[in-house]
Amino acid sequence: MGIIKRLEENTINKIAAGEVIERPASVVKELIENSIDAGATRVSIAVERGGNKRIRVVDNGTGMVKDDALLSIEKHSTSKIAKIKDLESVSTMGFRGEALSSIASVSKVEMRTRHKSERAGTRITIHGGRVLDVAAVGSNVGTIVDIRDLFYNLPARRKFLKRERTEFGHICDIVTERAIAHPEIHFDLVHNGDVVITSPRTPHLRERIALLFGDKAAKSMVEIGCKHGSITVFGYITKPHQYKRSASDLYLYINRRPVKSRNVNAAVVEGYGSLLMKQQYPRGVIFLDVPPSRIDVNVHPTKREVRFQDEKTVMEAVSQAVADAFKEKEFVPEVKTEMLPGFRSADAIEVGPQHGKEKDAAGPLPTTADQQLLPMGKKGEERPEHFGGAIIIGQLWNTYILLQKGNDFLMVDQHAAHERIRYEKLKNKHQSSSIKSQELISPVTIEVKANEFEILIDNRAAIERLGIEFEEFGRNTIQVRAMPVVLSGVWREQEIRNVVDELACLGKVKSEQKYEDDVLKIAACHSAIRAGEPLPVHRIKQLLEELAATDFKFACAHGRPVTITLTKRELEKMFKRIV
Ligand code: ADP
Ligand code: MG
Repeated sequence: MGIIKRLEENTINKIAAGEVIERPASVVKELIENSIDAGATRVSIAVERGGNKRIRVVDNGTGMVKDDALLSIEKHSTSKIAKIKDLESVSTMGFRGEALSSIASVSKVEMRTRHKSERAGTRITIHGGRVLDVAAVGSNVGTIVDIRDLFYNLPARRKFLKRERTEFGHICDIVTERAIAHPEIHFDLVHNGDVVITSPRTPHLRERIALLFGDKAAKSMVEIGCKHGSITVFGYITKPHQYKRSASDLYLYINRRPVKSRNVNAAVVEGYGSLLMKQQYPRGVIFLDVPPSRIDVNVHPTKREVRFQDEKTVMEAVSQAVADAFKEKEFVPEVKTEMLPGFRSADAIEVGPQHGKEKDAAGPLPTTADQQLLPMGKKGEERPEHFGGAIIIGQLWNTYILLQKGNDFLMVDQHAAHERIRYEKLKNKHQSSSIKSQELISPVTIEVKANEFEILIDNRAAIERLGIEFEEFGRNTIQVRAMPVVLSGVWREQEIRNVVDELACLGKVKSEQKYEDDVLKIAACHSAIRAGEPLPVHRIKQLLEELAATDFKFACAHGRPVTITLTKRELEKMFKRIV
């Protein structure tokens, strides 16, 4: 007797459902997509207990006639494609005809729908894939899908549902992500009776982007846009100093479908050129519109990935759009308008003739030829400045400090050096558990994404041990009240925002100790002198002094080198004075 048995239809369905329906948020995603495909201009989502108990989506789209409604819940039934050839030009969100049947096989569904061609609507009740009732009911044109007890008949899957707040966080992310791609649709999201998102139709994409990043960040983003043959790229991205350590805040849409693509992320970063350093990523939203015939959307069950026919051209279009945005606007980072911590405005004047020109001083990493090596020492004074046994040659591009020490030529990256110094100081203080926090004169209010909010709240104790104090301040918003005392420095608002952003994307999988170490690194990085900041002699000396007193001074907190040394011999070899 053989041991292989053919699975029952119902069992097959439940297994297949696992591919598209992973958690309540996947149900919400599929239902919203159906409403979008049905041409709705209003989509209202109401969930209870993070969607674990109930998910109800109401739309004013085309609705379905009775026969279609009955077919819609069957496997592999779709109105969107008829033959394989249609896949080449599919422009709808859905096309596989499996979402409704999958959802119906793992929950209790009541669907009400009416097409304008019929007087009565249709109500279908279906539990675990079994149709219990079909009735004619009064109904508006459009569709209501009401889902209860997701995975009630799949205990193994139900066990993996997370806490209400976690599941709801994912739902919020899905709704936000879709709302951004469709400003022409009014979206509402209600949780346990509370309105969480309400986003009326708008012609302004920037308003929708504020849903994701908050008003302030959305306002300060730079608009991009360019056409490259049949490819259109447009969107909003952050200025370079508002970077993140990962690409997690880069939202990409291809033909309004949210997708993930490392290659496109890389193309965006490439567009910034030298404005971003290694492992720095912008935040933002990028839309790529390409003819459907030039992409393959059928590579992933949840359609998160897309394949391009002509990948290189697409990547070039993306890089170009980003690069153009920063080329046209003579780019001045905001951080320059404020002063360094513990730094009087008069200090800047000592530095040299360059500072008559504010704009030059403000460049991120200046590349123009008029950025010369800045000679140290006061005007008319021949004697070079010294530190320890070294001669301070000067500051190059407001970024590197150049030193001559005997037969060595030293280049110190001022940001990396300062970051290392601050990291070691914070770490020492933390080990002797004496990080002092300093109350901010005016607390800083920061909006974050739903899942980030959760991470911050869950890790509050670890964060507070490091001197950062904050409170919940409404939905997805925190108010930072205190920051660690870092030397005699003053925290700037943008730095606090950057620290919180990075804290929020660290995630909570790490051990507490690793988490604390990361927090220290972030605090060190954001309070450190930046590349592109002009430094007067006394600041350079102070920096070198502190560096000399720091352990492990050869790499910054993120592992980049602090100092690079060229020996006289190496230089002579380069110039072929010796062989
Ligand atoms: P797909 O979206 O891949 O076609 P679904 O299982 O999600 O598959 O839906 C099956 C069909 O049911 C769709 O092709 C569409 O014709 C119809 N349908 C589903 N949801 C709606 C809705 N909200 N309004 C109108 N028609 C819908
Ligand atoms: Mg669908």
